[in-house]
Order: sequence, then structure tokens, then C-alpha cells
Amino acid sequence: MENKKELRTWLDDFGLSHPLVIAGPCSAETEEQVLTIAHELKNTDATVLRAGIWKPRTRPGNFEGVGSLGLKWLKKAKDETGMLTSTEVANPTHVDLALEHDVDILWLGARTTVSPFIVQEIAESLKGTDKIVLVKNPVNPDLPLWLGAIERLYKSDIEKIGAIHRGFSTYEKTRYRNNPNWQIPIELQTRFPDLPLICDPSHIAGRRDIVFDICQTALDLNFDGLMVETHHNPDKAWSDAQQQITPATLVKMMEDLRIRKSTDTEADYRNALNTLRTQIDVIDHQVIEMLGKRMKVADEIGLLKKEKNVAVLQTRRWNEILGKMILEGEQNNLSEEFVLRVFKAIHQESINHQEKVIKG
Ligand code: PEP
Ligand code: MN
Repeated sequence: MENKKELRTWLDDFGLSHPLVIAGPCSAETEEQVLTIAHELKNTDATVLRAGIWKPRTRPGNFEGVGSLGLKWLKKAKDETGMLTSTEVANPTHVDLALEHDVDILWLGARTTVSPFIVQEIAESLKGTDKIVLVKNPVNPDLPLWLGAIERLYKSDIEKIGAIHRGFSTYEKTRYRNNPNWQIPIELQTRFPDLPLICDPSHIAGRRDIVFDICQTALDLNFDGLMVETHHNPDKAWSDAQQQITPATLVKMMEDLRIRKSTDTEADYRNALNTLRTQIDVIDHQVIEMLGKRMKVADEIGLLKKEKNVAVLQTRRWNEILGKMILEGEQNNLSEEFVLRVFKAIHQESINHQEKVIKG
């Protein structure tokens, strides 16, 4: 798929002066719940109501969604509030039912995007539709797989396409439920600047206290919209209770977010600069995290050395590391002098860590 200007038109058609906001509960639970939330969202920046009808749960036994019954509630919410509606579809039957009930935006979930077979079936069942179809990134950090799903839809003559970044699953526990790996959506945006890109901070965060920060980073990186899980009584939600925010919090969040509009060349320049600075911030954060990880490994080596009563400083090993890093530095356009300085500092910190372990 090449970058095409038409990719943007569906988003431009909304004519919004702020990012597109899709909000609503993780899952539709009852008619009353869907209608209450829709009415609370009605006069906010949220243009589109979301609610999961069929829920892909990692393990059986959890709430798996109310099924097609919930589509009637979405239709009622649309009729009563004028909001557009959206839900996840994970097979052609879901697609048929969602289209029958006039759902406006359909999205493919992270667990669907990983499977080219099912994406192809969905693309065929949607062939030629003028509905908006959004593709969440796959659970694993794999840009070609994400792109592949988008291309399958594109080849099925679906013109109104967008991508949703919801973070990537990791085995290790981090502060995020799904690691943002911002470099992946940045790469997608660089290759397809006209493909609308929406951030789902709720599934990245997994907890409501960092939803705001993730939204701010996304907007600083020029994302076009946000999909935020919103519930009138988040703690009582039947799924994803910890990450949902109330409609009132969403309103406050939209007021507090720095939202950039590129209107003149000065603003364009500042936007470009801010986007690059945010990329630097993301990378710096990764550098610090990686250094922290390296020191943890150094601590473990310290423990081993303590058990075996071996000296902390192992000169031969250290010279090998330096030699390798100077070569890799060259391939990455880094001067030998810089690599030496950085690695001497890292090495010193490792030795300090190990000495602490050995003495401790
Ligand atoms: C959801 O949006 O509720 C959902 C299940 O998301 P994901 O596919 O990103 O896990
Ligand atoms: Mn959810």
C-alpha cells in the first residue's frame, strides 16, 4: 500500500478542531449502562461511542460480552444522542450483525490483527463497505503484521481505514499493561502520514492514573485521535475496571491536554520540533530503562562472583566488550571517542553496583 491522500478524507469529513475522540465502556453490560454513558458523553469532545459487544478474553470464565443483543442498545444510544457508534468485530458473523445494526465504525482487535486468515475473512465480508474500519496493532510488536491487516482491508476496497495503537504485550511486568513501543507507531506514521492514527491509552496503561500522560505523548507525536475507555462507574465495570475513567474525567482531561493545531508556518515549525523532541524523550526513557536493566544483570553477576570469591574487575572481558562496542558504534555513526566515554561510565557504574553486592 502506498501512502494515499484519500486515506485522510474520512477523518477530515468530521471537520473537528480537536482530535477525534472515541469514548465509552470496555464492554456493553446492560441497556441502562450503555445509555447512561452515552448521555454523559453526549456534549463532550467525544464524537463516537465505543462498546465491546463480543469480548476476546485471555482466559475463559470471564465476562465474554453480551453478544448481538448489545447492538440494539448501541443503535438506541445513537438515536438518542446523535453520537456515532463503534464496536469490535472478530469474524464475518460479527461483521454482518454490526452492519445490520448500522454500527458506524468497526474495529479489528489486537488478537484478530495477528491472524492473516481471519483478517482476510473479515476483509472479504466487509468488501466495498463505506463504513470506517480501524485496525488495532497486533499484540506482538510487529509492524509488518499490522500493515498486512491494513493492506488486506485496502485490497478489499475499503477506503475509510485507520490504525489504533494499543501497545504491545510483554512477558515481563512493566508499568504498562501493554508496552507503547512508540517507535512502531512513529514508523507507521512516517511511512503513511495520511493514514489516520488513533491512540488507545486505556489498553496501553491498564490503570487509570497514567491515561492522561499517554494521551499527551500521543498528541505530541501528532496522533489524530484517542479511543478512551469511559464508564459511569468504572470500579464496577464488568471488564477492564482499573483502566476506565468517568465521562467527567474525560472532559477534564481534554481541557488539560495540550492540543496542537497547525495553522501557520510558525505553528508548523513548532509542531515539527515538538514531535521530534517527543521522539527524543521516548528514546531517552528507553535508554535509562535499558541501563537500569543492565545494572540489574551486573548485580546478579556480582552475586555469582561473591559466591565463587572472584574479583569484580575482569580486564579481558572488559576489553572484549569495548572492542565490540566500538565496531557497533561505527556502524551506528558514533565516534570511537564517544563510545569509549559512554562505556567507561557504564562500566564504572557496573563495578560500583557489583561492589555494593559483594560488600552487602
Ligand atoms: C478493547 O478495545 O476492549 C479490546 C479488547 O482491545 P484490544 O483488542 O486492544 O485488546
Ligand atoms: Mn477493554
